Amino acid sequence: MAEKKWVYSFGDGKAEGAARLRDLLGGKGANLAEMSNIGLPVPPGFTITTEVCTAFYENDRAFPDGLKAQVETALAEVGRAIGANFGDAKNPLLVSVRSGARASMPGMMDTVLNLGLNDATAAGLAARAGDERFAYDSYRRFIAMYSDVVLGVEHHNFEEILEYFKEEQELKLDTELSAEDWKNIVTLFKARVEEELGRPFPQDVDEQLWGAISAVFGSWRNRRAETYRRLHNIPESWGTAVNIQAMVFGNMGETSATGVAFTRNPSTGEKDYYGEFLINAQGEDVVAGIRTPQSLTKKAREIAKDKKPSMEEAMPGAFAELAAVFDRLEKHYADMQDVEFTVQDGKLWMLQTRAGKRTAKAALKIAVEMVGEGLIDEKTAISRVDPASLDQLLHPTLDPDAPRDVLATGLPASPGAASGEVVFNSEEAASMRQIGKSVILVRVETSPEDINGMHSAAAILTTRGGMTSHAAVVARGMGRPCVSGAGTIRIDYKTETFTASGVTVKKGDVITVDGSTGQVLKGEIPTLQPELSGDFATLMGWADKHRRMEVRTNAETPHDAETARKFGAEGIGLCRTEHMFFDEDRIVAVRQMILADDAKGRRAPLDKILPMQRDDFRQLFEIMHGLPVTIRLLDPPLHEFLPKGDAEIAQVAADTGMPADKLVRRLAELAESNPMLGHRGCRLGISFPEIYEMQARAIFEGALEAAKKTGAPVIPEIMVPLVAMKTELDFLKARIDAVAAEVGKEQGVGLTYHVGTMIELPRAALMAREIAESAEFFSFGTNDLTQTTYGISRDDAAQFMNDYLGKKILMQDPFVSLDRDGVGELVRIAAERGRATRPGIKLGICGEHGGDPASIAFCEEVGLTYVSCSPYRVPIARLAAAQAALHMGAAAGTAGSTA
Ligand code: ADP
Ligand code: MG
Ligand code: MG
Repeated sequence: MAEKKWVYSFGDGKAEGAARLRDLLGGKGANLAEMSNIGLPVPPGFTITTEVCTAFYENDRAFPDGLKAQVETALAEVGRAIGANFGDAKNPLLVSVRSGARASMPGMMDTVLNLGLNDATAAGLAARAGDERFAYDSYRRFIAMYSDVVLGVEHHNFEEILEYFKEEQELKLDTELSAEDWKNIVTLFKARVEEELGRPFPQDVDEQLWGAISAVFGSWRNRRAETYRRLHNIPESWGTAVNIQAMVFGNMGETSATGVAFTRNPSTGEKDYYGEFLINAQGEDVVAGIRTPQSLTKKAREIAKDKKPSMEEAMPGAFAELAAVFDRLEKHYADMQDVEFTVQDGKLWMLQTRAGKRTAKAALKIAVEMVGEGLIDEKTAISRVDPASLDQLLHPTLDPDAPRDVLATGLPASPGAASGEVVFNSEEAASMRQIGKSVILVRVETSPEDINGMHSAAAILTTRGGMTSHAAVVARGMGRPCVSGAGTIRIDYKTETFTASGVTVKKGDVITVDGSTGQVLKGEIPTLQPELSGDFATLMGWADKHRRMEVRTNAETPHDAETARKFGAEGIGLCRTEHMFFDEDRIVAVRQMILADDAKGRRAPLDKILPMQRDDFRQLFEIMHGLPVTIRLLDPPLHEFLPKGDAEIAQVAADTGMPADKLVRRLAELAESNPMLGHRGCRLGISFPEIYEMQARAIFEGALEAAKKTGAPVIPEIMVPLVAMKTELDFLKARIDAVAAEVGKEQGVGLTYHVGTMIELPRAALMAREIAESAEFFSFGTNDLTQTTYGISRDDAAQFMNDYLGKKILMQDPFVSLDRDGVGELVRIAAERGRATRPGIKLGICGEHGGDPASIAFCEEVGLTYVSCSPYRVPIARLAAAQAALHMGAAAGTAGSTA
């Protein structure tokens, strides 16, 4: 049996590996091979595969058989290629030992440079290069790095020695140190290592080599790397590769340099080379901040008003080579690249390339421009932009050049920035808004009663609560900037002030809230408005062309509906009528209705609410101009509308003219121990049909008015919530149909409308075949469906969700990203059974998951008709739906070709 291949060589215009072997060679190794294959100047070397890493950990940190011999052969080959020998005292080969995982983990693992130096080879290198300073500069770097990474003698030991030395000699820059100085430093470094370890720094180059290889494999499991993997969902099983590569030297004097660069600007996407370099330096010096690096191009130097010459000016030859390499790399990879390079004595060497990380703005611009340049097609462009990152682009942002006076920092709960006058309660927020003021609502925390105030506020600030607190969830839904849990702020509702960082802010003072960073700032800070035309519009147009699912929005206010239209919503998938009940001018009537003893008592307040609801719906229908609008009948437990606490009860008694003792008794009757599983949803409609009848009438009348006004036909979709049984739906549908017939007769027209149901209880999903006999459409209410499938209340989950995630009981919060296995299975079942009864039944999803890209991909797999999400997530959903459709298409394509 042939021995397993553990080692892949590269360099000299050829390689055993290639970019497609990324899993085996790691990103760095695969791209070093690829660059060699396309003839770019890469110092020769070889990659030890990720399989060795796996074997290493399976074998108690021992290397597999055969590895040693393969490394020796490959190393000898590298020596031949550059005409030197590893460990040779006269003509030593030096190498770097570099980590490189499948997924890029910048700076997370360890690298050792200049390996192969000892007292003898350092002297040999000095003689051969005719440059003692260079040789001992390299040696001291090696001792410091190797000791830190391999021997565990921390870096600060060496920094201290160097700092002390420079101080004593009155030197400032490393470049001012002479050969003699570096020799002395080398002696001091070695002494420190011996002092720390009780044994001398290893002089045997083989010991150095294997020590470094072990250390790089070992660094796969260091704390930094583990944390990074957890944050980025990189499996531990992947392992890292190790790259061993002949050194090239950027520290050989004024004609040598080292640098990092992007082929385009990663922050704006502009097609300009972007990067930094340092003359007479090595490796990490550029990013370490020891010296200030210089600009790459003349243009960038002029913009930065930098005095030191750019690479374009200082090293025109090497720069021209680099520019040609950039061009070649972009054409080859068809993507923006992030590269590391070194110039040794005027000659350019490439040390790394990878797809460059970029901001959302840059991602858009680069994707669109590359289509224009013919580098990629539209489908690839769609796949290049992370849908979630669009969030950064849709909200106003703080002018980055404006000075900031930070009062406090909380959680970045809902993105965007806004300034306004501070108010401490919702009523005030609403009335200030009415007179045209921009206000910031500041609360310890918010509750459902604050909806109106939150809507009126330009931004929301709370001192308590996390990323899923009421304030955070509602603000995200509304697209209001929000900072939550700013714990260092002390609010005093009595004096209407808050204090933070020793500053007292009064009601009416202006502050700025930046929900993208969590900052709370003093005064007004200018903002930049989002740019929805240009590249954004172009990419969205492509996404629309390639997606199958429709994208609707969850909206109940004209403002949200308009925003959603601007963002490209194709209808309303969920209009929550209860949100309309909180308005100041109707809450009294709503309370009277709820508190009434019987149907007769409910009649008068319902008559008061009817024209208001009709007008709400008319406005929405008008804004949606013939696009579908799905309206959900009243859903939440009634007591959500009722007063809490003595003061509020007294107020409501006064408002409604109801005796306080009767009110208290009625409140007790309405109280429930598990409201989420109690008297809510269609159960309200069954107990109090007149409420749903009023709502149905408001919908039909509003639809007729809007149709008259706009000339566009309106086909309302009426959605009954929380159905578990077909009989529930039948009972209510009969009443809705009766109201439709009545309204039609009154106005002498025939009404077209659809009645459907939410699928948000497991029983409804299972009984979908029967329910679809009555329901004309389904909308998956996956918030409730997740709650009822797991038996976890979303409102109480905050208490233990972090334990579940931290202890890996759950891999992700099922309220954020749809649980494909369990909840998803119910969705699948309901979709199948619903279609069996009613082929072509319209299927949608509303609720938070409708705006989550991973959940949207699932909806595409199940073949839903549309997703519906909050207005600011509409563009995200459009792009995610396109990516999902393209992904499904590609998957189908491969399945077809292998069949
Ligand atoms: P990281 O993954 O942290 O970027 P690298 O393995 O890329 O670590 O090494 C860091 C830097 O060390 C490189 O950017 C390069 O400047 C330098 N370096 C690595 N290998 C060599 C080499 N063979 N010759 C010269 N410099 C090298
Ligand atoms: Mg690197
Ligand atoms: Mg629900």
